[in-house]
Amino acid sequence: MKKVFKRCVHCKSVYTYQMSGHGDYTYNNDTYCSDCYKVILEALKSVDVKFEKVKLPATNISVQDFEVKYKEHDDEIKGALYGLVCRRLRYGTPENFTYKDLMIDGVEYTLITNVNTNEKLLEVEYEQDCSTKKLIGLWNEYR
Ligand SMILES: [Zn+2]
Repeated sequence: MKKVFKRCVHCKSVYTYQMSGHGDYTYNNDTYCSDCYKVILEALKSVDVKFEKVKLPATNISVQDFEVKYKEHDDEIKGALYGLVCRRLRYGTPENFTYKDLMIDGVEYTLITNVNTNEKLLEVEYEQDCSTKKLIGLWNEYR
């Protein structure tokens, strides 16, 4: 569990921000203290969510292409100390499956492999309009 001190951007209070580990993340925010963040979340309840992420099989990239890019990425981070902490941890994953995540051109892909059958499924996140349920395109976080 990692916690750091932050100063709230709005009320300027010093608060503890929990970066990792178990705990209640409901009002945990890296910009606002829990009091301010609670107010923000309450205010946002009146604004409808317009788009959502849906995971579907990828059609724009093959499993083979993904594995090539994943290996390239893996080779890049191998030996580098930060590679050890960049690996995303997954909790509660079924033990018969392995998951490989990789961001390619701002889009998150996940290769799910059944370790018993070696069956592979490459999933990608799509953007879906919440009201029409129409797919807009690939989900991009624009980070
Ligand atoms: Zn505050």
